[in-house]
Amino acid sequence: MKTVIEKVTYNQKICNQEKIKAAGKIIQEGGLVAFPTETVYGLGADALNPQASAKIYEAKGRPSDNPLIIHISEMKALDKIAVHVSQQALKMAEHFWPGPLTMIFEKSELVPLETTGGLKTVAVRMPSHPAALALIKEAGGFIAAPSANTSGRPSPTSAEHVAEDMNGRISMILDGGAVGIGIESTIVDFTEEIPMILRPGYITPDMIKEVIGDIKIDPGLIKENSDVHPKAPGMKYRHYAPRAELILISGAQDNVQEKINNLAREAELSGKTAGVIGTDESFRYYSYGIVKSIGTRYDEDTIARNLYGILREFDQQNVDIIYSESFTTSGMGQAIMNRLLKAAGQRMIEI
Ligand code: AMP
Ligand code: MG
Repeated sequence: MKTVIEKVTYNQKICNQEKIKAAGKIIQEGGLVAFPTETVYGLGADALNPQASAKIYEAKGRPSDNPLIIHISEMKALDKIAVHVSQQALKMAEHFWPGPLTMIFEKSELVPLETTGGLKTVAVRMPSHPAALALIKEAGGFIAAPSANTSGRPSPTSAEHVAEDMNGRISMILDGGAVGIGIESTIVDFTEEIPMILRPGYITPDMIKEVIGDIKIDPGLIKENSDVHPKAPGMKYRHYAPRAELILISGAQDNVQEKINNLAREAELSGKTAGVIGTDESFRYYSYGIVKSIGTRYDEDTIARNLYGILREFDQQNVDIIYSESFTTSGMGQAIMNRLLKAAGQRMIEI
């Protein structure tokens, strides 16, 4: 299959209508189109067409029990795919949609089990990216889309990343440039009595508490509970991972830098190519391996935006082992560390 890459430009609202129309038609006919959202690039198919959803699993090599998120572009679409939507959830939608929030509800009859990985619940998000919203409208209103990467690899934050993984496997990539946020949406489960965060993201627990009060965090996400399964099926896999081995180092900054220097030196002495993830503040202290800065430690938005791109760059440079600093910032730090720990297969050296 030849993959067509189309650049889309946009101002406040409308994008290159002809290209969006062509992309919408591919989806309506049961094909696959990758498209930009404000979080990461998505791999879209008609959410109400079971054969189309099945193609997403095939293109990504995604385990079939890992459900897809349905993307909508207007509130009235929610009632068609979800039942028992609570007042709290509507309040959340009012505050955070369109935006990087996914909510889980009981699914309606309309939604095929192929799209929900066999579950009776459905994940729904209204993205804010103008190209995504325009595409959803053109495609008939319901696009099932996971991240547009090969299953397990870092999520794509540019059209080039999508092409690396999906070239020849899908009909079209809409290239909207680099994404704004860089990590996936916050997932909140509203089928629980007290809503529960299943995946941390740009929208933090504190932001949610301000809108609806009490909220729980899936106990399966807390590192100490390694025997508790996370409720979102996708959160149990090693994920977001580079091909190289990744190890995180946490502790007092001076000790972390010394430890990483020692580890990178040992790796290089044993004939491996080492990579180091530091920050604008620290990277000049590292003397061994390929050193990259993820951005300034004081700007978590930048750290989130650069995270997956850095992991992919190390893959292109055929690095064998990557040592990374930890980033436990107050807001999105939880989301950033969640992705890094999964990419590292939970390997972290605490000093
Ligand atoms: P991705 O779009 O690749 O970021 O993956 C979607 C994430 O949403 C995965 O972690 C899924 O397990 C999760 N998800 C989707 N639908 C549901 C659902 N009905 N219940 C729980 N988690 C879900
Ligand atoms: Mg994903």
